[in-house]
Amino acid sequence: MAHKTVHAKSARSRIHRLRLSFSTLNADALLVTHLPNIRYLCGFTGSAGILLVDPSRATLYTDSRYTLQARQEVYDATTVIAPHGLIRAVGEALKARRGAIRLAFAPAQLTVAQKTALQLAVGSRLRWLAAPDLIERQRAVKDADERARMRQSARLISDVWTAAVLNVKPGVSELAVAADIERSMKLQGASGPSFESIVASGSRSAWPHARPTSKLLRKNELVVLDQGAILRGYCSDMTRTVFLGRSSARVRSLYHAVLHAQEAAIAAIRPGVSAASVDAAARKVFKQSGLERYFTHSTGHGLGLEIHEMPRLGRGEETLLEEGMVVTVEPGLYVERLGGIRIEDEVLVTAQGAEVLTSASREFLEL
Ligand code: ZN
Ligand code: ZN
Repeated sequence: MAHKTVHAKSARSRIHRLRLSFSTLNADALLVTHLPNIRYLCGFTGSAGILLVDPSRATLYTDSRYTLQARQEVYDATTVIAPHGLIRAVGEALKARRGAIRLAFAPAQLTVAQKTALQLAVGSRLRWLAAPDLIERQRAVKDADERARMRQSARLISDVWTAAVLNVKPGVSELAVAADIERSMKLQGASGPSFESIVASGSRSAWPHARPTSKLLRKNELVVLDQGAILRGYCSDMTRTVFLGRSSARVRSLYHAVLHAQEAAIAAIRPGVSAASVDAAARKVFKQSGLERYFTHSTGHGLGLEIHEMPRLGRGEETLLEEGMVVTVEPGLYVERLGGIRIEDEVLVTAQGAEVLTSASREFLEL
């Protein structure tokens, strides 16, 4: 079609591949309400949309604020501008069909209000088929277009961090460092941070998800910097830990334990291994040095259009890694009062093993 953005061939086959997996569900249609899934399947980036995927076509319902945007963005789906609400339009479309309608949906993403409204509109002919994680499982394996975007996003955050760390020094507040990082990612083309940047210093660095505060950085403190950007829709995520001044032997040995745990986990990554076994590889390193009790979260997570995606690298996660998955590997140690140390990189699962996408130095910086 003319006047449309040219999309990579891989992007164009996403709905086709989704149909292959939902045909085994014996559903007549699939209702998609989660916006990142809608963007993934048909390119629409607006904040109001419902996508109805049928065996032979797909329809995007949105409102009149998005008429022009949808015309430019949407591929592989027909756009319907709904004047009286999206659920009402979907209900009317389903009601016009004959016979029973088996509608697949994601229980975690359809609200009770939406489900009730559709049931009322269509009546008892509408049957529900719970299909959790159908699209999320497909999204876990990045296609060629997505891999290129993930690489770019990872490179951007690596460059941003490498420049920003020069301004990490005593007397600067955590918030000022975070603001500097987020400003610099936007100047380099990111649409924004993929999550609220974490800059946590001193004893606050022992909180794995500390929010930056007006606390000033001081000499002889650890500083954990965890940041990510969104570039062309795709999230990056990277953590580095630095020390202000000359660190103690204890801090240096903790840092090296975290680094070795990360290296062990990355070395364990290849297609066919379970997500749990990658987590176990990191945990084993800490166990050997008696530090396991200070590692209080899982080893990593998938990411892509969203900052947390499948698979999770944690205990009990039986998902087998596949070529094309992108995950973070982010072991950490958190010691009350002393502080926290985390090193996080993004890894693409390749046919041979793992390719690290984030490139900032992992050497222990004493600033
Ligand atoms: Zn992170
Ligand atoms: Zn992360």
